[in-house]
Amino acid sequence: MTFKEFGLNESLLEGIDASGYENATPVQEQVIPLILSGKDIIASAQTGTGKTAAFLLPIIHKLLASRIEDQVNALVIVPTRELAVQIAQNLEGLSYFTPISSIAVYGGGDGSSFNNEKQALSKGADIVICTPGRMIAHLNMGYVKLKGLHYLVLDEADRMLDMGFYDDIMKIISYLPPVRQNLLFSATMPMKIRDLARKILHEPAEINIAISKPPARIVQNAFIVYEAQKIPLIKWLLKSTNFKSILIFCSKKHNVKQLTMELKRSRFNVKEIHSDLDQNGREEVLLEFKSRRLQILVATDILSRGIDIDNIDLVINYDVPNDGEDYIHRIGRTARAETDGVAYTFISEKEQNKFRVIEDLLGSPVTKVPVPEQFGPSPEYNPRKSRRPGGGGSGGGGGRKFSHQGGRGRH
Ligand code: AMP
Repeated sequence: MTFKEFGLNESLLEGIDASGYENATPVQEQVIPLILSGKDIIASAQTGTGKTAAFLLPIIHKLLASRIEDQVNALVIVPTRELAVQIAQNLEGLSYFTPISSIAVYGGGDGSSFNNEKQALSKGADIVICTPGRMIAHLNMGYVKLKGLHYLVLDEADRMLDMGFYDDIMKIISYLPPVRQNLLFSATMPMKIRDLARKILHEPAEINIAISKPPARIVQNAFIVYEAQKIPLIKWLLKSTNFKSILIFCSKKHNVKQLTMELKRSRFNVKEIHSDLDQNGREEVLLEFKSRRLQILVATDILSRGIDIDNIDLVINYDVPNDGEDYIHRIGRTARAETDGVAYTFISEKEQNKFRVIEDLLGSPVTKVPVPEQFGPSPEYNPRKSRRPGGGGSGGGGGRKFSHQGGRGRH
């Protein structure tokens, strides 16, 4: 389906064209007409499905007809500053040929960025993309013009609740006019999201486009190792392959720092990103990585969700992520935009059980690649049997579950 068929504003179509979009993705096909018709929406759709444009395009289109000047007309609440920046950039591209104004409001910057935000919020900006804490700081000061607000978007809602933002979200909503269109996007739909939806949404249309399994194009491998083998093995892997853009995930900041130091010592083109870096530092590193001046980026899970970097061809899980969702988000950073990708996970002895649970959720085992002989003997893969019956991820047993409605993904 083309974007013209939605009947979108011509100047918006120009921006879509300039952004290089030709046809709507499945989530866009379903969501755009519903938003245009004024419905509230609850959609399970992950990053990579085109969900950002799915809510931005109809909002921009409607604002072009009915925006109130000098007001905030739409508010998009997101869990992280990185996601806020990314959505703002996407928005800038799509709305380039329109008069729609926007601003990203997030913590971590210096005093001048707070003042810039304050100015924009008191003068009014059509679309505000914010992280919860920072928005509340502005709302508390009383100058944010919200009377005309018509659209509220909660993006990555599950992540926001995981990060403890429930009260902040409800507080922000208490400042909004009661009659508005509400759109909630979430990668997963646990009960607490449904509870939130019941409180915020009005007779919502429900859409399910979750990619509940990683795209088949990602070649998934794993090494079964002793913890002490990880560093020599990763150096060997990086030297003996020819990947141009490599993202390595560690669960802990400490591991990110240590691994980056080790790789630097071996003269790899590598940098680190984690929450100790200030906002400018993070953006600089991301830019270097996106523009491919930096070959290897070592990251905490700060980057596993929501961040859109094309052309990563290798993702390495230096340690096993805490759950299946994080695993999928991490390896989903590769194989974006129809290209192939490769993922390796390093599994130490004490991480084997955790990985087995992930494999059960995936529904099939991940290929175990033999550790080269030069590294000496390595452990057997012998995890405890998972408590999940059937191994298909649909059994009970607590924990978070995948929805199994992945067939409508973009791929
Ligand atoms: P998202 O799921 O919103 O993070 O989008 C993932 C990527 O797909 C981003 O780089 C978007 O710019 C891109 N994208 C979104 N919609 C389309 C489309 N209709 N055609 C091509 N690329 C798209």
